[in-house]
Amino acid sequence: MSDTARIDAAGLEVAELETVFERLGVARFHARQLYRWIWRRGVDDFEAMSDLSRDLRVRLADALEVVSPRVVHRDMSTDGTVKLLLELSDGRCIESVHIPDTPAQTFCVSTQVGCAMRCAFCLTGKMGMVRNLNAGEIAGQVRVLARELGLLDVAFNIVLMGMGEPLHNYDETMKALRLLADPNGMAVPARRVTLSTVGVLPALARLATEPYMPNLAVSLHATTEDVRDALVPVNRKYGLADLIEACKRFPVKRRDRITFEYVLLDGVNDTPQDARRLVRLLADIRAKVNLIPLNEAPSIPFARPSDARVDAFARILAAKGLRVSVRKSRGRDIRAACGQLIVEGTRPSPAQRLADQLGARG
Ligand code: SAH
Repeated sequence: MSDTARIDAAGLEVAELETVFERLGVARFHARQLYRWIWRRGVDDFEAMSDLSRDLRVRLADALEVVSPRVVHRDMSTDGTVKLLLELSDGRCIESVHIPDTPAQTFCVSTQVGCAMRCAFCLTGKMGMVRNLNAGEIAGQVRVLARELGLLDVAFNIVLMGMGEPLHNYDETMKALRLLADPNGMAVPARRVTLSTVGVLPALARLATEPYMPNLAVSLHATTEDVRDALVPVNRKYGLADLIEACKRFPVKRRDRITFEYVLLDGVNDTPQDARRLVRLLADIRAKVNLIPLNEAPSIPFARPSDARVDAFARILAAKGLRVSVRKSRGRDIRAACGQLIVEGTRPSPAQRLADQLGARG
């Protein structure tokens, strides 16, 4: 089939699309038109692009395609959170989440199928690393979520807190952010994007030099090297002390702060001593702390602390002048909360696919 030879237009930045158009002998300005159809209006069928001539639509459809993750399943939580199971072109699946009214709209997207970091309390880590997503697949989640939920014209936030470690898939992640930022498309400003990372230090140093600089969230989760080694295995390579130094050097804009995420595990990292050590660690950083009481799962060998324990931890930080918030768990009933994204058997059976297709039509 000639399908495989077609170029994915949804994986190209405007300048790349212009180059392709030139090669096809099509006027460059049509590239922007196509970009607008894809990213502003969420259209992926050339036939529907009514301001392109019929002849041009046929030529484009011959050489290009607009690849979009396919919605296989949609769950809605009692709190309004929506989780989409999306199938990629190789049959692999990922999950993406829409969290309404935070007070803004927030899309939580994945950067990898699975994850290599294997944090001890995270279900995605249990999948191991399957593969990196490409830029079109990362940004495509936002396009599909916005289209499915009727939010294409609404301002929204994006958090790279789904499956995967964004700094372990650096180039495609940054390209995805450029695809989303382009003024011909969704025009998402950097201040509306948050990149969450365990702290892959060489990549963090690169991020510090990016012209398009998202907000930074660092998954800290521990206040000693030993505990962090056990919870976040990459700490054995890029240790806590070096991570803190890198954060001190990170160029945060004047009114901004680095968010430090801290999953609270009962009896493991939630003692008053931990709280005080955390205060000292962050003393010279423009920081805010986001406490995340563990979202439990049967295969996770830790427990969520009581509300009183969470509160006591938060109070110690606040009393020392640290900004602190406790993350409200959203979508727990549909397994859409932090650390709960996992896709079992990521390749749907042909029978399942057929059933889905029939269901979608019926
Ligand atoms: N790999 C990136 C982004 C993905 S996870 C990172 O680690 O930052 C987003 C956040 O959810 C991280 O802080 C992660 O540690 C946290 N998380 C993972 N499993 C969790 C769980 N079971 N309960 C609560 N938070 C969890």
